[in-house]
Amino acid sequence: MIIDAHAHIFPDKIAEKASDGISAFYDGMKMDSRGTLGELLKKGSEAGVDRFIVQSVATVPAQVPSINDFIAKSVKEHPDKLTGFGALHPDFEDIYGETERIISLGLRGIKLHSDFQGFDIDDEKAFPIYEAAEGRLPVLFHVGDNRSDRSSPERLLNIVKRFPKLTVIGAHFAGWSMWDRGAELFDHNGIYTDCSSSLYAMAPEHAAELIRKIGVHRVMWGTDYPMWNAKEELERFSKLPLSDRERELILSENARRILGEI
Ligand SMILES: [Zn+2]
Repeated sequence: MIIDAHAHIFPDKIAEKASDGISAFYDGMKMDSRGTLGELLKKGSEAGVDRFIVQSVATVPAQVPSINDFIAKSVKEHPDKLTGFGALHPDFEDIYGETERIISLGLRGIKLHSDFQGFDIDDEKAFPIYEAAEGRLPVLFHVGDNRSDRSSPERLLNIVKRFPKLTVIGAHFAGWSMWDRGAELFDHNGIYTDCSSSLYAMAPEHAAELIRKIGVHRVMWGTDYPMWNAKEELERFSKLPLSDRERELILSENARRILGEI
């Protein structure tokens, strides 16, 4: 079984604009796809992916409810293929109420990308999100950007210390573009991570080293769709010097354990 633990989807009408926005944010980094659900399912299924953890980021507070409705609707249409994460924003007026709604919609986590959302992940104004989620929903953070420190691994560590019961998933080896720094800080230390948008930037041996440093039970495989597609990310993953058991954990078992039965 293969689970893509990190995929973004957008409503068809805005997918092109949204993926262009992400590409521009990452200095014109070429994205594989446009970010529609149909394309994710088609490309993923062709590559052998069985389930996708789908999410979308609320760049402004007003988008929060409609994103959560969109993700919930997508999951209802494809319950055998999708598990959904909700969106929140620290400036959203009713974080506790929306967290309840996220849970009642059947969503299984919360996604934050503070570089897009314009806040420091350990800023007090984001604490209500962590308080509301603690012990109930995992929070998937985009972590790391060498052009800014809003989502730095050090700030993530502050959250882990302050909210010990919060299930923290620090994406991209907990330090996109600063991969060693993330793994150094979270050496078997309380967080989960994924290897999405990372394997393109390093040798297979280096990736295996980071996985073992953070812990093979703590890493999930993901595409960061629409940035990459499942076929190419699985090819990159297949080159990592890992045992069959380690592959099994990273490709599906860890996600099922960390997110609960999915
Ligand atoms: Zn993401």
